[in-house]
Amino acid sequence: MTRDRAVPQQLGFDGMPERLFVCTPSKLASFDDCPRRYRHTYIDRPTPPKGPPWAHNSLGASVHTSLKNWYATAPDRRRPEIMLTLLRGTWVREGYRDDAQEREVFDRALGWLEAYVETLDPVDEPLGVERTVAAKTSVLALSGRADRIDSRDGEAVIVDYKTGRTGLDQDDARGSQALALYAYAAARVFRRRCVRVELHHLPTGTVAAHEHTEESLARQVARAEGTARDIMAAERALADGTPPDAAFPMQPSSLCSWCDFRKVCPGGADAPVKQQWEAVDNALARGVGERGA
Ligand code: SF4
Repeated sequence: MTRDRAVPQQLGFDGMPERLFVCTPSKLASFDDCPRRYRHTYIDRPTPPKGPPWAHNSLGASVHTSLKNWYATAPDRRRPEIMLTLLRGTWVREGYRDDAQEREVFDRALGWLEAYVETLDPVDEPLGVERTVAAKTSVLALSGRADRIDSRDGEAVIVDYKTGRTGLDQDDARGSQALALYAYAAARVFRRRCVRVELHHLPTGTVAAHEHTEESLARQVARAEGTARDIMAAERALADGTPPDAAFPMQPSSLCSWCDFRKVCPGGADAPVKQQWEAVDNALARGVGERGA
């Protein structure tokens, strides 16, 4: 694990060492989505009060942990039937409208998981499961936890599980900065080529994949470095006395409806109010991932 003192430094233009910007892909994405939300999440202490938990987050966490535990189980026990025990053991109950909705979502998620692990080779051991990978550039000290890193034909492949919106396609895999940064870091950690990234959509059993080139990965890293520079400039402005709302301005968008800080932010005042369980309700209504659908 990288300790603060171990983070290498580079010389800035004035000859003084500049610290690398320590970050994860989600930290960078948070600033890109809305600088104010970034400030509430990563700078303001104490953190402003958040809204109540979302059912779709509970569902995502439950499914991810179940798949992690699948790989923690001995290969000869990796059968679809164990998913009921695994999902029960990791189920997060927060955010659902009532017991009936929670039960319906549990049954649906169990179906996704049983169908998904049926497609996996039980004796196959990935390079990493919920594995943290890290890399440094001249600007970034980057780390992030990939859902799964497979070994295929001598190369590493990034796998990201999705439980949310349907219709993910190759463009989503290609455009995901997080997946590209995981690939960049995984190549360095495992010392092998890593250019393929995949989104595994559990409800539909579909895979959206993209093969990066070294150039496209370099472009994503450069974009991440640009975001990091913007964040560091905003942090300097804040330290120099710029008002917080000017250094980290609001960036209202459709995301405001799902923002944990909308109650403390005027930017979200006009956004449609979403119930905690609304995203999963919509998915149930559309029959997403229904067995036989
Ligand atoms: S409510 Fe909207 S504008 Fe305000 S912090 Fe959240 S995402 Fe940003």
